[in-house]
Amino acid sequence: MLKNNLGYPRVGAHRELKKASEQYWSGKTGREELFAVARKIREQNWKLQQEAGIDLIPCNDFSFYDQVLDTSLMLGVIPQRYNAVLTENAKNKEIDLYFAMARGYQKDGLDITAMEMTKWFDTNYHYIVPEFTANQQFRLFSEKIFDEFNLAKQVTGTIPKPVLIGPVSYLLLGKEKEPGFDKIDLIKKLVPVYVWILKRLQSQGAVWVQLDEPFLAMDLSQKEKDAFVYAYNEIKKQCSDLKTLLTTYFEGLNENTSLAVNLPVSALHVDLVRAPKQLDEVLTLMPETLSLSLGVVDGRNIWKNDYIRSLAHIKKAIAVVGKDRLLIAPGCSLLHTPFDLDLETGINPEIKNWMAFAKQKLNEVNELSEIIEGNNELLKANIEAISTRNISKLIHKQVIKDRAEAITDDDATRTSKFPSRQKTQQGNFHLPLFPTTTIGSFPQTDEIRQLRARLKKGELTPAQYDTEIEKATIDAIRWQEEIGIDVLVHGEFERNDMVEYFGEQLDGFLFTKNGWVQSYGSRCVKPPVIYGDVSRPKDMTVRWSSFAQANTHKLMKGMLTGPVTILQWSFVRDDQPRSETTFQIALAIRDEVVALEKAGIKVIQIDEPAIREGLPLRKADRAAYLDWAVKAFRISASGVQDETQIHTHMCYSEFNDIIEHIAMMDADVITIETSRSQMELLEAFSDFKYPAEIGPGVYDIHSPRIPSVDEMVSLLEKAAVLLPVGNIWVNPDCGLKTRKWPETQAALKNMVQAAKAAREIFSKQPVN
Ligand code: GLN
Ligand code: ZN
Repeated sequence: MLKNNLGYPRVGAHRELKKASEQYWSGKTGREELFAVARKIREQNWKLQQEAGIDLIPCNDFSFYDQVLDTSLMLGVIPQRYNAVLTENAKNKEIDLYFAMARGYQKDGLDITAMEMTKWFDTNYHYIVPEFTANQQFRLFSEKIFDEFNLAKQVTGTIPKPVLIGPVSYLLLGKEKEPGFDKIDLIKKLVPVYVWILKRLQSQGAVWVQLDEPFLAMDLSQKEKDAFVYAYNEIKKQCSDLKTLLTTYFEGLNENTSLAVNLPVSALHVDLVRAPKQLDEVLTLMPETLSLSLGVVDGRNIWKNDYIRSLAHIKKAIAVVGKDRLLIAPGCSLLHTPFDLDLETGINPEIKNWMAFAKQKLNEVNELSEIIEGNNELLKANIEAISTRNISKLIHKQVIKDRAEAITDDDATRTSKFPSRQKTQQGNFHLPLFPTTTIGSFPQTDEIRQLRARLKKGELTPAQYDTEIEKATIDAIRWQEEIGIDVLVHGEFERNDMVEYFGEQLDGFLFTKNGWVQSYGSRCVKPPVIYGDVSRPKDMTVRWSSFAQANTHKLMKGMLTGPVTILQWSFVRDDQPRSETTFQIALAIRDEVVALEKAGIKVIQIDEPAIREGLPLRKADRAAYLDWAVKAFRISASGVQDETQIHTHMCYSEFNDIIEHIAMMDADVITIETSRSQMELLEAFSDFKYPAEIGPGVYDIHSPRIPSVDEMVSLLEKAAVLLPVGNIWVNPDCGLKTRKWPETQAALKNMVQAAKAAREIFSKQPVN
């Protein structure tokens, strides 16, 4: 059985790539430094996989920003507006064009917006959405895949396995930028370029190539199914000697099983962690010409593999198809797990013994194959670890289970319905038309980060730290008052991260030192680990929110992270349903909301940016998820009086298919990301006649670009066509913590001016 790996984390064990790219972007270092860091990370990753005994070592899974953007560059799918990046500045190279597409470009007299970004299936990884035109052409543009293949060959002395996003999934990940065509019809133009690339890889010595087609495990239309048949038959016809590994993950093949196993590829990879049930049917239907890669090690979580469970799958497969046609692998790319558990020295050893990161997961692949070959010692150690976890008192707390058990519908319902709450709140707040606010965080400057670092090292006392954070908060308040924001935020300076901050104060969570996972570009998150029953021993945000409110006469918005997002952005327990964990968190947040209200906070935002990404990938599973997710939000929001205005915030989502459930969350105000899509995302709210107030983001916070007043006014005018004017708020797409102060100030000043201009325009018209 070949030991297979689909992809490896690429930011580096200590986030070296993050640091190197950010320095490059800021002009502090040159291209050569960046490339040197990138090269070192790749070399280390390959060697590590080689030492772990992996036979099929991936290459081209590395990326400077995003693997979908890499694919766009590989295939020459470069929107026209970026041409100027290379023509206007002769010093710019391919990498600068690449970063311009990812981040926008505001230099050399150019002002080009970034490409749209959205979540990669149900993960917290964000990819750059390919843009297709009706007359889309494809051609080999970037040589990255060949360079990386050759480098990997050199470094490992073996033949690595190039990884590509398959042609059908690539098209399905993209977006038609003009009407009049269906992106899937581009397949005929696209496949010849893939064939050309594969042939060239083969001529350079490639034996195996991995084509990622996650969409094969999703709901597919007939046309999409036909595209798979067409693409893989063409590839087979023209590259018959190449071994193709078709990989699916995150879901089961289900009704696409027969389609998938009959595609003319050498091997098919299935994710048995996420979708164990698919194995039987796959084994029954797969033809003798096909090999099967068994994804048995969890690529999305940090728990140690349960060998007994994995071995059951492997043995079943051996019984049907024999060892020769099997590969063992993680369920998906290890991109979604942190790098190395060995770096963690602070975790309770009992709990640490239940965990595994990317490096340990490679080893699990190796150990599973050794156990199959008869190594029983390895199996014994694993059984012991797994069984202590099942009964540990660190995990199981009866009071918490009982409270969650006793939740009623009343606990999830506010006193009055929205129209009546709106009247009450409007009567109290006296906000203008187009009230302005921000989403919560202000720039997390180096100084702020350093305060936290110094506190941790003991160089600052908690009191000194608090004083500094108070200063930053007051500065932010004064500054918001000066430019005329209507509903203020305290700036979240005291928070490292919107989930970690809460996790640190809740019971049942643990934290890693280096457990970073890439979120988008150079950004990483360090998800907490929920290992046990969750509860809230004391107030979490009241101190900072009431401090901030005491320092202004304006409304100060309290800021919380919602239960679904806390769940979604943590590594969660795999020993109980997600819904149970979420209800426990919801009760903790509810207690905090009530405590804020008691402390005099009148507007409270409960962020749920992750609610959509928790949506099951298969339509059939969605209703059940939305039921418990909406209920969890309502449990957290419904402990307050009508007078208290509950906001929620979501970003980077298509809302069309869940708009009804967003409405059922029953928030008084929702702020959403809409600017990159030029308000397109708002149409769902308009078509649905969304009943409550909405703040459509008027500027993109993922780019340093400063939007002009006119630009934002025109977005507001667009919004006013779609929504009742009296329901529209004015705010950025998301929090501003990743931005720098100068651009933030300039952008927010413009935003306030835009709101004023909109008031001018619409006060002359009857308000609808
Ligand atoms: N309140 C959070 C912030 O402003 C929201 C972040 C998010 O939606 N991702 O940072
Ligand atoms: Zn957001």
